[in-house]
Amino acid sequence: MDGSPANPTVNLVLLGAPGAGKGTQARLLAERFGLTQLSTGDLLREAVNAGTPAGDAAADIMQRGELVPDEIVTKILADRLDRGDLGGVIFDGYPRTVAQAHALEGILAGRGRAVTATISLDVHHESIAERICGRFTCAGCGEGYHDRFKLPQAEGVCDKCGGSDFGRRADDTSEAVLTRLAAYAEQTAPVEEFYESRDVLHRADAMGAIGAVSKRLSACVEEALA
Ligand code: ADP
Ligand code: ZN
Repeated sequence: MDGSPANPTVNLVLLGAPGAGKGTQARLLAERFGLTQLSTGDLLREAVNAGTPAGDAAADIMQRGELVPDEIVTKILADRLDRGDLGGVIFDGYPRTVAQAHALEGILAGRGRAVTATISLDVHHESIAERICGRFTCAGCGEGYHDRFKLPQAEGVCDKCGGSDFGRRADDTSEAVLTRLAAYAEQTAPVEEFYESRDVLHRADAMGAIGAVSKRLSACVEEALA
């Protein structure tokens, strides 16, 4: 499958700890399989930047590394699903609680959709802080970089769009990372059991180079779609 035309029946969910590479890998899978990437982290950051009521409510919570209340995130996600014809989608960062997993079932069912497959990105927890502290993003196109693992080929110039404006996330600090990992262990890890019980959970080793992980995930998606 080369991604075109988009497959409107595909609804993938990526799970994994903060720093597991969900955002990076979701982008690559979206390109390869012709899916729309829906990242609640990105949607929330857009809301914060735009100063919407939801964004104002979420800003401090996010900066601390805690989870934003389910109602706020779920509303943002549902609104996004209703904006335009998305075709197949890949959820990155949602659901993050069992309550959200139940909400997603309802949201999808109401739109004639259902979760096709869930892939959990497995990483060693020791490497997470290292991955997160050091990462930065092109402000122009959203391409992700890292001080140690993935610098732009030409210093200060985005490989993808040629832009030279980069940003770092307010919650990529060592304090917030600890809070994010605790929230993951307490609130998000149980979501895997939820999808296991629905028989749609796959696991993939997400350690190693971005390209190698992407290959493993693509194989996993192909198998899930076969
Ligand atoms: P990461 O996976 O690296 O933590 P994200 O961009 O997915 O990064 O999320 C950043 C922050 O946005 C989270 O720490 C949390 O505060 C908020 N957030 C994103 N998605 C959700 C969600 N589904 N439920 C609650 N909070 C969320
Ligand atoms: Zn760029």
